[in-house]
Amino acid sequence: MKHFDPATAINAVQSLSSERGVNPSINDSATFTFPHGQTMTDTFHGETEGYYLYSRHWNPSNMALCTSLAAMEDTEAAWVTGSGMAAITCALLHCVQQGDHIVASMTVYGGTFAFLNNYIKRFGVEVTFVDTTNLAQVKAACKANTKVIYTETMSNPLLRICNVGELRKIADEFGAKLIVDNTFTPMIFTPHRLGAHIVVYSMTKFINGKNDCVAGAICGDSEFINGLIDVNCGTAMLLGPVLDSFRATSILKNLYTLHIRMQQHSRNAMYLAEKFNAIGIKANYTGLPTHIDHELMKQQMNPQFGFGGMIAIDLGTAENANKFMEAMQKQGIGFLAVSLGYFRTLFSCSGKSTSSEVPEEFQKAMGMSEGLVRFSVGLDNDIEYTFEQMSEILKNEGFVK
Ligand code: PLP
Repeated sequence: MKHFDPATAINAVQSLSSERGVNPSINDSATFTFPHGQTMTDTFHGETEGYYLYSRHWNPSNMALCTSLAAMEDTEAAWVTGSGMAAITCALLHCVQQGDHIVASMTVYGGTFAFLNNYIKRFGVEVTFVDTTNLAQVKAACKANTKVIYTETMSNPLLRICNVGELRKIADEFGAKLIVDNTFTPMIFTPHRLGAHIVVYSMTKFINGKNDCVAGAICGDSEFINGLIDVNCGTAMLLGPVLDSFRATSILKNLYTLHIRMQQHSRNAMYLAEKFNAIGIKANYTGLPTHIDHELMKQQMNPQFGFGGMIAIDLGTAENANKFMEAMQKQGIGFLAVSLGYFRTLFSCSGKSTSSEVPEEFQKAMGMSEGLVRFSVGLDNDIEYTFEQMSEILKNEGFVK
């Protein structure tokens, strides 16, 4: 495959505003004027270029962000939403109707799991949960009415990696769409180039990186994105979860530093993972050759961005996990908080937080322990000092000798 650098692709997007500002002007209009009545009619039917109709559909700020996201993902188009869940639910709902079937990873983010397990049923859509790292299981679950295979490139919280190219082959066999959530690993993976039809993001996480807003994105071909915002039957146009244009503008500015942030998150996470192992705390990190999917990740990743900022360690019980996290927060190492992709380190006990919607039997099947602490490693300048503090706490609490 031809060399592709998502960071260079974004930087190649011309962002001069009409006033010649280096950043695009912020759109402050919900509606837009037309020189002629006919132009308005043509725009309604998607037959014009350079005209905007109404901000729930398109506006210049969202267009600027979407152009950059599509460049990063190497997709024809993108559309941005008010949350990651809005991106996921709109993309899924747009692919299915009553009587259809979805095959989904059992390790998806808890909100996505709840949507697929509890909510989408009301529309007569059946869902089968499988281990998407097990291709035979995925294939066996697919049926003539399977319209979507849904997975995350890197699973939460055990950080398993799926084989996007092989999943695409199965999707093609059944005429289904492969939808991939790449929230944990922007830039590291370019899932569309690996085979995904549609790539979704919670931009709340690494892409924005500031924890100051909730946002999402759907990236795919023009036919799919235009279909989503079709005025008559587009799921996004009719459910209306569009991202506010002020936020689109601020996220775009953060997107331009994503490549540097991902490299630093990865460097710091690799350092911590190696150090945890050295003191006898088994770290689950895809960058370590001992990780079950290390080789698979290497085959699919854009190596210049590293293995990502997510690590998990197992302290056995939820009580131990809480003790450790509370002490780390007190010490100022980071925050006991859900979410990820922030410039400070965030930690949470997955079984009792972000995966709590996932039933215990599924948690067990995926090998999740109640004492699993998930870290989203921050951009710390002195990660050596961060680790010194962590290991001091681990010693004081009696977790290591
Ligand atoms: N996808 C993943 C992998 C997530 O971790 C999350 C949130 O934690 C979401 C989607 C949902 O995103 P949002 O909170 O922006 O709706």
